[in-house]
Amino acid sequence: MSLAALAAAALCACVAAAPAMATITDPGAFLDETEHLRIRNHRQFAERLAQIHREAPPLSPAEQWHLRYLDAFETTLQGDYVAAEKPLREVIDRSGDPMLAAKASAVLLSNLAISHRYEDAFRLAHRLTIQLPSIRNKATRFMVLANLSQMLNFAGQTDLALQYARMMEDAVPTGTTLCDPRFKQMAALYSAKKLTASSTALRDTVNLCKAAGQPIIAAATELIISTLDLQEHQPGKALALLDRIAPSLRANRYYPHLLSAQTQRAQAYEQLGRDDEARQTALAVLANAHSGEINGFLTDIYELLYRLAERRGQPAAALAYYKQYVAQNQGALDDAAAQALAYQTVQQQVLTHQLETQELARQNSVLKLQRALDAKAVETSRLYIALLLLMLAAIAVWLARTLRSKLHFKHLASRDALTGTLNHQHFMGECDRLLRGLETRSAHACLIWIDLDHFKQINDTHGHAIGDLALRHAVQVCRQHLRPGDLFGRLGGEEFGILLDDCPREQAIAIADRIRLAIEASPMVLNDAEVAISASIGVAATATSGHDLQRLCRDADAALYRAKRAGRNRVVADAADSSFVEA
Ligand code: GH3
Ligand code: MG
Ligand code: MG
Repeated sequence: MSLAALAAAALCACVAAAPAMATITDPGAFLDETEHLRIRNHRQFAERLAQIHREAPPLSPAEQWHLRYLDAFETTLQGDYVAAEKPLREVIDRSGDPMLAAKASAVLLSNLAISHRYEDAFRLAHRLTIQLPSIRNKATRFMVLANLSQMLNFAGQTDLALQYARMMEDAVPTGTTLCDPRFKQMAALYSAKKLTASSTALRDTVNLCKAAGQPIIAAATELIISTLDLQEHQPGKALALLDRIAPSLRANRYYPHLLSAQTQRAQAYEQLGRDDEARQTALAVLANAHSGEINGFLTDIYELLYRLAERRGQPAAALAYYKQYVAQNQGALDDAAAQALAYQTVQQQVLTHQLETQELARQNSVLKLQRALDAKAVETSRLYIALLLLMLAAIAVWLARTLRSKLHFKHLASRDALTGTLNHQHFMGECDRLLRGLETRSAHACLIWIDLDHFKQINDTHGHAIGDLALRHAVQVCRQHLRPGDLFGRLGGEEFGILLDDCPREQAIAIADRIRLAIEASPMVLNDAEVAISASIGVAATATSGHDLQRLCRDADAALYRAKRAGRNRVVADAADSSFVEA
């Protein structure tokens, strides 16, 4: 049995009573109803299409595309597959409606296969397979699955064809039956040689399709049974079946089925040894066949006629039939080879495309990984820089703190804790340094030696703490008379030294006296009393004692001693002529 007959059965038009025509009020609904009729009542379908073109109601762009698809479907039903291709491709590429495009693809798929354009057909089939998961609309999905199943059966992919035919059962739209899915399953199983004439699945399908009012598909199934009867050498059973379905086939006037039935009838007669009837039937097949037609039925017929002519002892006729048989067989083989080649070509293209896609995906992921690594590296180096800056900042802070505390400690180490003046040791060191500098410049300085008078008494009278305050108070008073370059130190107890930088002797005596007067004039004020303080001061000058610190100290101390002895609260300077001058 030819696969072309099975293919054609997918688009069969079943005749039903036509309802009366009404004027088009809602073009959208009208188009939907018209589409619904396309495989139930071809005549009415065609009339409604003619009506909408005649009345030309205003259509939305979507409705215009829908009409274009239905027109293309009608062109297909009339067998003009070439004319149908352009509008179908336009609907697929430009309608912008995925469901309508899928339906148009399914129709185009069938047309391409029937037109023997297998490579285009398989390419389209592949595209539809990819789209399949997104096709949810039942009617569309049902149609796409049906045509895919048929195509794959064509390509000898019977397992896949069977799978798609079974998937159709889950997408049966309302108003449609299981007839078509079951028939597609039978067609796939027949191609896979998995059926026998007695398979119950075949009879069930026949009964189901008859009950569903789809006689052409029922007949197509019965023709599979009769073919199997012949293959199993049961010509009597085959003939009985062919006789039984003959009225139905005549009523349907479906050419591929008529051709198939007549061919089988001829083969049955031959198997029964009724050569004359076989020959007459075979010749009738040739008379009915379209000129130039090439198909499996005609191959069988020419082969049969060749055998019969040979048996009848007509070598010339036998040779002529044999030539026709070879031509038909070659055509059928070429067609089969073309199908297989097209399938392989498309599979190869798909495989290559998949490999390219995989390679691109791999390159892409490598690139992404590289980018991620780069980003990570940038992030890491930023982190390192931040860490480094943090460390540098920490070191800088640490250095600054260390330096500050070092300076602080140095300061503390050089100062007297109670009064804040230089301590004895530091004062001496600084004086020595300053004097040496002055000596090189031949500049002069004076050393003032201060001792507070009767300080023991202050302690005794007011306590040691008040004595401390008195010491600080006296220092504050002294400071007010010093210049920035002068050195001020505590020599111990209540004794202080001042080195007046770059200062002549007379000026030093004047400063010393101002200090004395200021101390005397500034008693320390307590809550309930005043503490009077006075100081005795000795002055030594480099002009008389030279720049040696030891000598200056000795002379200043001697002058101070004299001041004490002279009655305290006074200034005594070591005179230039070694006698003492009292301020
Ligand atoms: P003068 O110098 O007039 O002869 O009599 P003075 O009482 O000041 O003599 P002296 O040198 O004998 O006594 C100094 C006193 O200074 C002794 C000590 O108690 C007191 N003194 C020394 N250092 C401190 C100190 O740091 N704080 C207090 N409150 N008193 C001190
Ligand atoms: Mg003293
Ligand atoms: Mg004293």
